[in-house]
Amino acid sequence: MNKKISIIVSVYNEEEVLFEFYRETIKVLLLIDHSYEIVFVNDGSMDGSRGLLFKIAKDDPNVKVVHFSKNFGHEAAMIAGIDHASGDYLVCMDADLQHPPTLLPEIMKKFEAGYDIINMVRTVNKSAGIVKNITSSAFYKVINRLSDNKLVNNASDFFGISKRVADILRNNYRDKIRFLRGYVQNVGFNTINIEYEAKRRFAGESKYSIRNLFKFSMNTIMTFSNLPLKLGIYAGIMAIVLAIILAIYTVWSFIKVGTPSGYATTICLICFMFSVLFFIVGIIGEYLGMILSELRDHPIYIVEEKINFDKAKKEL
Ligand code: UDP
Ligand code: MG
Repeated sequence: MNKKISIIVSVYNEEEVLFEFYRETIKVLLLIDHSYEIVFVNDGSMDGSRGLLFKIAKDDPNVKVVHFSKNFGHEAAMIAGIDHASGDYLVCMDADLQHPPTLLPEIMKKFEAGYDIINMVRTVNKSAGIVKNITSSAFYKVINRLSDNKLVNNASDFFGISKRVADILRNNYRDKIRFLRGYVQNVGFNTINIEYEAKRRFAGESKYSIRNLFKFSMNTIMTFSNLPLKLGIYAGIMAIVLAIILAIYTVWSFIKVGTPSGYATTICLICFMFSVLFFIVGIIGEYLGMILSELRDHPIYIVEEKINFDKAKKEL
C-alpha cells in the first residue's frame, strides 16, 4: 500500500547546505516507492535560507515551508514540523547532512515492518570535538541515573515516528520546555534503534554553543527528574550530622581545654549552612521558573508564513 513519507527539517541559517540537502534527499526519496513531502521549518534564519526555501518550494509542490516569526529553537522547529506534516511516516532530520538521507530506505523498511519509532543512534560523531563527545555521554549517564525514564545513549534528533506516535506528540506533549527526543523514546510502541555514523556538517557552523548545550542539559534533567528537588532533604540531613559532630566537639573541647574556639566553628558553620541553603533555593527557583512558563501557556512557536500547504490540500 502506498504510504506518505514526511521529512521534517529544521533550518536555522543554513543557506550553505540547503540546496545540497534538498538534492541529496530528493534523490533518495524518488527511489522509494511511496509519496512524500519535505516540510522545512525555517526557525527565523537571518541569512539567505528564506529565499532559497522559497525557490525550492516554487519548483516542487511536495516541498512545504513553515516560516517562524523569529528564532524559537531547534526543538520548537521539530514540533512545528510534526504539527504540519501530513504523512503516515515522519522522519525528523537536520539540514546540514549530518543525518545521511541515504539511510531513509532503511528507515522505511522498518516502518513497513511495523515499527512505530525508529531511533537513529550515533556511533561516532565526526564533527563533534572530544569535549562535545565526552559531555554528551556524561549527559546521558546523568539523566539515566536521575530519571525513571531511560534514554538511549547517543540517540539523535534523527528519528522516525509513525502517524499514531506523531498524533500523541501533537496532542499530549505540549510542554513549553521539553526534550522531544526523550519523549519519543518514552511513549512506548514498537521501537527499534539503528546505529549510524554522524557525518561532518556539509558546510556552515554548529548553531549550538556550549552555553546553549548547558542550558539544554539542565532543562532536560529538570523535565525528566524531580530528584534535584530532593537534594534539600539530603543536604539537611548532612547539615544536621555535621552540627551534631560540631556540638560534641565543642562540649568535648570545653571539658578538656576549658575554652572551645567558638569563632572559627561559627564562621565555618554559617558558611556551610548558607551555601547549602542558596544551592537548594536556586534549584527550587529553576523549577518554579519552569512551572511559570507552563502556566503562562505562550505558544511553542509562532508561524509567520506557510508555503505550499493549500496546494497540497487541493491535490487531495
Ligand atoms: N537549528 C534550528 N534552530 C536553532 C538551532 C539549530 O532549527 O536555533 C537547526 C539547524 O539548522 C540544524 C539542526 O537544528 O538543521 C541542528 O543544528 P546544528 O547542526 O547546529 O547542531 P549540531 O549538529 O552541531 O548539534
Ligand atoms: Mg549539525
